[in-house]
Amino acid sequence: MDRVCLVTGGGSGIGKAICKKVANEGAKVIVADLLLEKAEMVSDEIRSEGGEAVPIQVDVTQFLDVKQMVQKAENVFDRIDVLVNNAGWSSVESFLESNESTWDKEIDINLKGVLYTCKTVLPIMMKQGYGKVINISSEAGVVGAASKVVYSAAKGGVISFTKALAREMARHNITVNSISPGVTKTPLLNELESGKPGLIAKLEKLVPLRRLAEPEDIANTVCLFASYEGDYITGQTLSVSGGITMN
Ligand code: NAD
Repeated sequence: MDRVCLVTGGGSGIGKAICKKVANEGAKVIVADLLLEKAEMVSDEIRSEGGEAVPIQVDVTQFLDVKQMVQKAENVFDRIDVLVNNAGWSSVESFLESNESTWDKEIDINLKGVLYTCKTVLPIMMKQGYGKVINISSEAGVVGAASKVVYSAAKGGVISFTKALAREMARHNITVNSISPGVTKTPLLNELESGKPGLIAKLEKLVPLRRLAEPEDIANTVCLFASYEGDYITGQTLSVSGGITMN
């Protein structure tokens, strides 16, 4: 993959797997994360394996921060072919117990952050006459998740935004798609399992394919959308959830 990929939230979990996978396929990667040391660790790993990566600190909820990140990325690699909006966060609490500050945080990171990066990166892709935007949504945004109500709304917003933006961008040869992971085995889930032994086994029983997603399952799907083979796919939401959602 002879491309420059910018991945937000690239320092951990699914984002880290995406950075490593696209680098392994030959892409030059910008590992962008709120926590610079995590982005640096992922970049170092990629470079030690012979790949090309640059860490950049960013808070996707701050428009100015996003503009500075994109400027830095453009200065280093001169172009951005693939934007992966992966940074995300959710609380776990019932809607009636939740409050406005959590709603703002969930909407700002999961939805507004995607608007900021797209607003900044799309003009670059338009100049190039080519680009791919891949938004990491969630099955919560497709079917809804109890105790993650506002997160579900924000991720549902990402899915609708993806479709509408895909229509506007098609004439510029830019595709916009989203991926909805099911429950994925990230460090956070392993932490939850240590507090609640048996949680993973219980969740696995709900999945037709009888296992939870590995971060690499999501990364593989990003590669499909990011590759030349995916050039004719736009405005789609692909559930990568072992069959929990079947459209
Ligand atoms: P994670 O917490 O392991 O990683 C998220 C990364 O985003 C972290 O490195 C964090 O520092 C970074 N980040 C957080 N806020 C940021 C901000 N404001 N600006 C920049 N970076 C920020 O999470 P994950 O489980 O790997 O999730 C990745 C994406 O996948 C998220 O969008 C999440 O909503 C989505 N998702 C995850 C699951 C799952 O089960 N893990 C399921 C469905 C969807």
